[in-house]
Amino acid sequence: MSDIVRKPRGRLFFANPGPTNIPDSILHAVSHVSVDWYPAEFMGIYNGCREGLKRLMKTRNDLVFHTGSGHGAWESALVNLFSAGDLLLYPQTGNFSDRWGQMARDLGLRTNVLECDWRRGVEMSAVRAALAADTAHEIKGVCVTHNETSTGMTLDPGDFRAALDATGHPALLLVDTISSLACMDFRNDEWRVDCAVGGSQKGMMLPTGLSFNTISEKAWAASKQSTLPKSYFSWANMMKLPHKSFMGTPPTSLFYGMQEALRLLLEDEGLDNVFARHTRLATAVRCAVNQWAGNGGPQLFCLNPSRYSDSVTTVLVPEGCDANKVRAAALDRFNVSLGGGLSRLAGKAFRIGHLGDLNEPMILGTLGAVELSMKVAGVPYSTGGVDAAIAYLAQGE
Ligand SMILES: *Cc1c(COP(=O)(O)O)cnc(C)c1O
Repeated sequence: MSDIVRKPRGRLFFANPGPTNIPDSILHAVSHVSVDWYPAEFMGIYNGCREGLKRLMKTRNDLVFHTGSGHGAWESALVNLFSAGDLLLYPQTGNFSDRWGQMARDLGLRTNVLECDWRRGVEMSAVRAALAADTAHEIKGVCVTHNETSTGMTLDPGDFRAALDATGHPALLLVDTISSLACMDFRNDEWRVDCAVGGSQKGMMLPTGLSFNTISEKAWAASKQSTLPKSYFSWANMMKLPHKSFMGTPPTSLFYGMQEALRLLLEDEGLDNVFARHTRLATAVRCAVNQWAGNGGPQLFCLNPSRYSDSVTTVLVPEGCDANKVRAAALDRFNVSLGGGLSRLAGKAFRIGHLGDLNEPMILGTLGAVELSMKVAGVPYSTGGVDAAIAYLAQGE
C-alpha cells in the first residue's frame, strides 16, 4: 500500500465570490517586469487605467487609488470625509455593511444601523423615515452596500439618492461597489454618489491589492472640513503627488493587469454584455438552487427577488446540516472552492460566486460539483438542479 495522500488533479475550480478567477491574458499582463513609475511610459498606462475605470464607474468625478484591499478604500472614505463624533446611517444588509459600520465606530464616528431581516434587507421606508426624522441634519453620511456579498442581496443606490432628495437631506452618499463593479450596472454620476468604494479582486478580475474611491465636488468640500487623523489615506496629501493617488510606490504590475481588464470589459465584451452575462449565469444558479430546495433541501438565502445578486448566491442548508461539510467535500475531493457563510451564517450557508471571468460550462461545473458535494455531505435535496440550470441556459439570450 502506498502512503501517498491522494491530491486533487486539474486546475483549482474557483467559485468564491472574491477573489475571483483571473483570465490568462490578465495574468500575463500582471507578470510585467518592474518599471519606474514616473516616466511617460508608465504614466500613460496609469492615466489610461484611470480614465477607463471612470468609464466603468460612469463618472467624471475625481478618482484616487490606494495600495490596499477594499478595506483600505472603506477607511479612506471615512477618514477623509468626516470628523470625530459625526453620525453615519448604515442600512444593514449583512456582514459587510456591519463591518464597515464597525470600522466607522473604531475610527470614532457614531453610527445609526438600520437593522433588518438579513434575508430581505432594509426597507426603504425605514431609510426615508430615518432621514425625514433627522431635521437637525445630524446624519453626515449614508453608507450603502450595493452588493452584500455575505447574503447575496443588492440595494439600489438610486433608491438612496431618491430618498435623500425626497427628504431634502444633505448627507453624503457613500456606496460600497466592491462586489458589484463590473458585474452590475454602477452609475456613479447619475446617482450623484459622493464617494464610491471599489476594489480590484472581484468583478475586475485582478489580484487583490488595489482599491479606489470616487470623489464628488460635494465630497471634496466635506473633506476640507474633516478632522479625523489621516496620513497614508489623505486625499490632500495625494493631490500633491504626480499620480494624485497612493502614498509611496504604486503597484505598477497591477496597472498593466488593469489595462487588460478594462480592455476585456469595455472593448472586447462591452459593459452591457458583461452585465447580461452576469444576470444570465446568476439566474441559472438560482434555477438550480430552487430545484434543490424540494425534498427539504437547501434554499436561496435571499427572499427578496427584486434584490437578488448577480454576483453571488448564498445558499442556506437545511436545519441540522453543516454547510462547511459541503464546502470541505467540494474542495478536498473535487478541487472546487466555494465561499463560506459569514458571521451569523457560519456553518449555515455556503456561497457560490458567479462574478468575473465565467461562462456557462464553468457555472454548470460548479453546480454539478455542489450537487455532488451535497450528496457526499448527506445534505438532502431534490435532484435535477443542474438540469434546471441547463433548461434555463438553453433558451439562449
Ligand atoms: C470583499 C468585500 C469587501 C472587503 O474588501 P477586501 O478587499 O476584502 O478588503 C467589502 N465590501 C464588500 C461588499 C465586499 O464584497
